[in-house]
Amino acid sequence: MSAGMDAGVVIVGAGQAGGRVALMLAQRGYPGPVTLIGAESLPPYERPPLSKEMLADPQHPLPVLVPAEEYGRLGIALHLGRRVTAIDRARQLVTMDDGASLPYGRLVLATGGRPRQLPFRLERLQVLRTAGDVRAIAARAEKATSVLVVGGGVIGLEVAATLRKRGLAVTVVEVGSRLLGRNFPEPVAAAIAERHVAEGVVLRTGVRVRAVSEDGGGLHATLSDGTTITADFAVVGIGITPDTGLAQDCGLVTDDGVVVDADMRSSDPAILAVGDMAAIPGQDGRPMRCETWQNANVTAERAVATILGEAAPPGEASWFWTDQYDLNVQLTGNTMGGTGNCLLLEQRSAVAGGRLFLMLEGDRLVGAAAINAGRDMSLCRRLIAAGVRLPAAMPEAAQFDARAARTLLTPSPASARPVDA
Ligand code: ADP
Repeated sequence: MSAGMDAGVVIVGAGQAGGRVALMLAQRGYPGPVTLIGAESLPPYERPPLSKEMLADPQHPLPVLVPAEEYGRLGIALHLGRRVTAIDRARQLVTMDDGASLPYGRLVLATGGRPRQLPFRLERLQVLRTAGDVRAIAARAEKATSVLVVGGGVIGLEVAATLRKRGLAVTVVEVGSRLLGRNFPEPVAAAIAERHVAEGVVLRTGVRVRAVSEDGGGLHATLSDGTTITADFAVVGIGITPDTGLAQDCGLVTDDGVVVDADMRSSDPAILAVGDMAAIPGQDGRPMRCETWQNANVTAERAVATILGEAAPPGEASWFWTDQYDLNVQLTGNTMGGTGNCLLLEQRSAVAGGRLFLMLEGDRLVGAAAINAGRDMSLCRRLIAAGVRLPAAMPEAAQFDARAARTLLTPSPASARPVDA
């Protein structure tokens, strides 16, 4: 065993990515000590259900990765309710807020992000990031008849849908000219907006919150167009800021997140970063962060392969989803075009009522979005990852050809030759 393994792996941040690193190391027989340190008092859990099932029903169980006892059983030292306050790279030590120090052979940063806040501190303004935040919002919703949602991204809109279903009057204020402008193609965002309007949600785009006050009658938000919205409380979902304080303090290279290579190594090879706060090389090689459930798992797996000295797992097309009312929307790959050579076209799905949006670059599929067509989405993910060329008839058809897609993915000897041969 190397000196590095004697000191073992210390993971800072017990969210989904940090938890997965610890569990995978233990499950794959990493021989050194594994320590997982998290500021929250809860064991690692997944966040997707927070703005949906958990907000709809506060009795919904916490979506933990594994029960808390499992960490001990696997030999993982789990320190909850503890923060790491400093990293000493020269001595390979971390210091915790109780004054204790821990040596590391490899350090994994998995500190995630903090929700961005409006520049007002008011009792009735609430962010949603943790299970504790969800409980606080659910408790407020219990006594409320109206809510203002600030931010028309995925979190804001999932909160809007969930609270609308609970019977609250909902207004969404989005500073951009449309909803979901960061990562949803326009027609997909429009379909989601239409569904919210049909449910009675008031959508206000292209306006920002200028001032907020609160009194016994509720919360009063003055918008940039001079109008005022009164609601019982507000949920702010305007994105996150990666939690890179510790990394910056110890001199690691950061660029929005902690800059890592494809093996999740930071500018100090003894320190890796995973999850929302890791800035991984994008298609063009530039560092980019990705705040998805899949990315937490993929970066955790890559970090574990690096620590165990194994080959990196094969690449996958990026993928995420949202559920709002009866809409399940899934996106994969490059759905925003961006290069100028991309073309977005819509097809019917073979799934009844499903809609599919394909982003094509020449004859290759580079991205896709599916509304209530999850089955087609898994084929699209595989087509993108395989980088196969589509025969011209495929994108030209009115309906997505799932059978042709399957054939392209499992070529028979006759169809294995390149499609342009
Ligand atoms: P998340 O995934 O947490 O929902 P996103 O960044 O995807 O985060 O969405 C946040 C949304 O909030 C974006 O559409 C952004 O334009 C919007 N936004 C950011 N700042 C404000 C603000 N001050 N007022 C209203 N909307 C805002």
